[in-house]
Amino acid sequence: MFASNLDTSLVYLKGVGPKRAELLQKELGFSTYEHLLSHYPFRYIDRTRFYKINELLPDMPLIQVVGKIMTKETIGEKHKKRIVAKFADDTGTMELVWFQSLKWVEEHIYRGNNYIAFGKPNFFNGSFSISHPDLETYPRQNGSVTGNLTLQPIYNSTEKLKKAFLDSKGIQKLIYHIIELHINEIRETLPKYILDKYKLIGRKEAIINIHFPANTNMLQQAERRLKFEELFFIQLQLLYNKHLRSLKFKGSLFQNVGEKVNTFYNEIIPFDLTNAQKRVIKEIRLDTQRGSQMNRLVQGDVGSGKTVVALMSMLLANDNGYQACMMAPTEILARQHYESLVGMLKGELVKVGLLTGSTTKKQRTILHQQLENGEIDILVGTHALIEDKVLFHNLGLVVIDEQHRFGVEQRAKLWRKNSIPPHILVMTATPIPRTLAMTLYGDLDVSVIDELPAGRKPIDTKHLYENQRMRMFGFMKQEIAKGRQVYIVYPLIKESEKLDLLHLEAGIEQLSYQFPLPQYQVSIVHGKLSNADKQYEMQRFIDGKTQIMVATTVIEVGVNVPNASVMVIENAERFGLSQLHQLRGRVGRGAEQSFCILMSGNKLNPTSKKRLETMVRTNNGFEISEIDLELRGPGDITGTQQSGTIELKVADLAKDQVILQEARNTVIEIFDQDPQLVDPNNSLLKSFLAKRNTGISFDKIS
Ligand code: ADP
Ligand code: MG
Repeated sequence: MFASNLDTSLVYLKGVGPKRAELLQKELGFSTYEHLLSHYPFRYIDRTRFYKINELLPDMPLIQVVGKIMTKETIGEKHKKRIVAKFADDTGTMELVWFQSLKWVEEHIYRGNNYIAFGKPNFFNGSFSISHPDLETYPRQNGSVTGNLTLQPIYNSTEKLKKAFLDSKGIQKLIYHIIELHINEIRETLPKYILDKYKLIGRKEAIINIHFPANTNMLQQAERRLKFEELFFIQLQLLYNKHLRSLKFKGSLFQNVGEKVNTFYNEIIPFDLTNAQKRVIKEIRLDTQRGSQMNRLVQGDVGSGKTVVALMSMLLANDNGYQACMMAPTEILARQHYESLVGMLKGELVKVGLLTGSTTKKQRTILHQQLENGEIDILVGTHALIEDKVLFHNLGLVVIDEQHRFGVEQRAKLWRKNSIPPHILVMTATPIPRTLAMTLYGDLDVSVIDELPAGRKPIDTKHLYENQRMRMFGFMKQEIAKGRQVYIVYPLIKESEKLDLLHLEAGIEQLSYQFPLPQYQVSIVHGKLSNADKQYEMQRFIDGKTQIMVATTVIEVGVNVPNASVMVIENAERFGLSQLHQLRGRVGRGAEQSFCILMSGNKLNPTSKKRLETMVRTNNGFEISEIDLELRGPGDITGTQQSGTIELKVADLAKDQVILQEARNTVIEIFDQDPQLVDPNNSLLKSFLAKRNTGISFDKIS
């Protein structure tokens, strides 16, 4: 991190050389000593515990046994040739077997000597053996690399590295060399007052102990220190970006609550806002009066009423002479937003436009004109909005719905359209666990709508197995007879779109027997349909002309049909938790009791089971997101849904919430007390940022 001999190229490390250096670069991206030092073990094997041979059990993990080599012989021919040794302690005998490096074993392993044999025991024909054991002479010799290690580090390696003798052991040796020679060049990165406050050990001690733990306690301290450091510097960077943005970007001022907001609020809106909605609107009001750019994320469960919050914010922009736009991830959603905004506004309060991929050239030309001369107050659309030709007269606010489908890059593109960047309001119905939000969106302000409008009945969720399918059909018929509508959703997995379509078709065929025409009408929507066809099918369902909507997950987000009261999810075990929750949110939007039926195969693995149980037990999106994080790990969540991934070496967002909170609080305090980092105590932090941010323009940061 700071210039020192640790920036030396790995070529110069004892035991590396040009070939292995190239391999380390290619396989792991390592080129310096520092890189290798930051390659932490992914687990440790406890080598304090010794097993007796009569204690061995089939299916044990790696273990160690102290014993004596009684006999050693080479048997078999050619590729079946191997060395087998009888290895005994005072409780019994087992075998040690080698298929490779026979010459070395021949010359270095002695009959009659005592060894510690380490490896995974195999159980065959009533006796145990270890293939290619790790052997150490017993008693252990001091001073060798692993000689007095009680917790043996295990490192990630790759097949190619292993062929070059850089398996876990080989990597361990290299790291040992670095520590041996350069121990005093490991520099502290955290100010002393922080170490003192959180009782963290120094970086040098931590690095030594993460690789070669003196004991369990030191390993824990090393991990804690390195986790803190990792999370701290992520937070430092995020909050620094935020700070810079607020300095650099002026924001448009929305000083006045004017005629449009007032008319809407006092005369048009048909319900009372929930307290949560009011609070979030107030937060947005404050943000837009500061003179700096707002970057706010609004999280709210499906049905919590984010649209009206967005609308009131856009009217606020309009009241202050600015245009606003709202982006949705799909054409269907954009259209639906457009219609619900126009519907909510009831008339001519403001002019709303719609721009999507299927807007015709002619309409587009007119729209562009109306945008440029300021006639349109609110523009709703898909990413067609960020096409370069679209120019606003005076864009003051951008609302982005379900932002995880819009990349950071795309957001930045929008900004560049204006000299004063518009305020940004990001809305998501995917509740994100707190730790993940702090890390992924650490540079945004976060509002939470944690309350549903009054009178909503919680959705009743049931899990049925395949052999209970007739019950499900019966229930559907009952609900349809009451005038309700039903969704049936099939999973869609990219790798096998064909297979999914087959599933869908088989499902539809089965349905057609259960729900014959003309009594029952069915809409079908899937990814292979043209936009126009999708639109048509959706519309029939929205208008109540069809009772059943069969769909793949294209209906996932935002679709709003209040009369639909049953959501059936087929192959529910194939969906992730947050996706199941999203889908369930399509119902429960009207006054009627709604239901979600999770259909699954008869056999479930423990994770699927836990997912479905969680769905049945709770409707709380935040609770579900926490369990999702636990079950999947943050990697999955960031990789599949969010733009941009966070790579963490030691910290684990599912487990290290306390450390993360400490790290974030520390950074917040630092920027509060010393925003320019002029205090000499913060000089390490200042040089970290200076080094990380040379040449980075604000555009790139955003
Ligand atoms: P989401 O947060 O999922 O986007 P919507 O904004 O689509 O939710 O709102 C869901 C439904 O709840 C809409 O029909 C909307 O008109 C209604 N709604 C929103 N806020 C309230 C409220 N405070 N009281 C009653 N109904 C509300
Ligand atoms: Mg919505």
